[in-house]
Amino acid sequence: MSDAPALLNLYDLPRPVLDARLGDWGFSPQYRERVWTGLYRDGVTALGDVAGLRPDLQAVLQERAHLGHLATHHESFSSDGLTHKLLLRLHDGQTIETVLMRFKGRATVCVSTQAGCAMGCVFCATGQMGLSRHLTPGEVVGQVLHVTRLLRERGEALRNIVLMGMGEPLHNYEHTMAAVDILVDPKGLALAPRFITLSTVGVVPGIIRLADEARPVQLAVSLHGATDAERAALVPAGRRWPLNELMDACRYYVAKRKRRIFFEWTLIAGRNDTAEHAHHLGALLHGMDAHVNVIPLNPTVGYDGGPSVPDAVRAFQDVLTSHGVPSTVRQRRGIDIDAGCGQLKAAVERKPRRTLPVAS
Ligand code: SAH
Ligand code: SF4
Repeated sequence: MSDAPALLNLYDLPRPVLDARLGDWGFSPQYRERVWTGLYRDGVTALGDVAGLRPDLQAVLQERAHLGHLATHHESFSSDGLTHKLLLRLHDGQTIETVLMRFKGRATVCVSTQAGCAMGCVFCATGQMGLSRHLTPGEVVGQVLHVTRLLRERGEALRNIVLMGMGEPLHNYEHTMAAVDILVDPKGLALAPRFITLSTVGVVPGIIRLADEARPVQLAVSLHGATDAERAALVPAGRRWPLNELMDACRYYVAKRKRRIFFEWTLIAGRNDTAEHAHHLGALLHGMDAHVNVIPLNPTVGYDGGPSVPDAVRAFQDVLTSHGVPSTVRQRRGIDIDAGCGQLKAAVERKPRRTLPVAS
């Protein structure tokens, strides 16, 4: 392995931190800004390409820092060509999933925040793996830069970021937020905060902190069950943060941020998709500024449940409507390429000698 990881990965540093570090290294404010815009606005792939630096400053950069690019370990495309699933390799050999979805000029990337996940949701391929480690801010940013480069080659731009890949973003709060700060910086990638969605399994202290710190992201909360017992059977983290605490935190968030929350509900045939389940959910969200995304289960090897049939999905939505709760059905795109959370990694590691079927 090279000694590159011992160098400072500049993608790990939010702007004020990078500024301070460059200041220590003798960079004036003007040169500090050149480094930042070089990294994020121009998207240089090598430090030597940062424009307008004096040779002595260039030498300091090369000696002390590097750009932590993520290598493609495996990739596949959906049959319609619009979903591009990447398994990216980190410097220590860990692999993480990043999914690029191109849709009518509104490209969306789904990024990971951890290698694996500690939360253990029973139907989730990532949960079935357990947690290897948190990602650094630069590893989160690196996923976005990776797909930004792919899009640039086609003359397209990235619009949406969903923190819905592998891992629980609020279990890695500091690094995730540092990455968000980097992504939205107006002199860099300048991504719009309203197009960044953070999905959480319901880490209550994290939701309160997001509200208190006025973090400019959209919040999505994964529910999947509307009573503690039913939820905990699918989402073990529900035992740690019961629904009354979780809903209090959500109401606090809505009141403080004046923003609606999206609630995610993975529909599993016979387990959480009956009219009774829908009534419980409707009652739980009654009177709140909420929107439910229902997602038919993407089956995984480690879980015996199946997706709800379309009639059950419609009936579930009808009950929510009767409670005044709006909802949308989200299909997990790229099901033909294991594009559910954690599924490509699971598939690649299950059959290491075989290539995945890449649909044409
Ligand atoms: N840890 C965060 C974000 C990553 S998971 C969270 O749980 O919210 C993103 C979403 O995908 C969650 O709503 C999760 O429940 C859902 N999900 C995970 N595995 C799935 C599967 N096999 N089928 C359908 N949805 C799944
Ligand atoms: Fe972790 Fe989210 Fe998967 Fe649950 S659904 S195991 S919180 S990644």
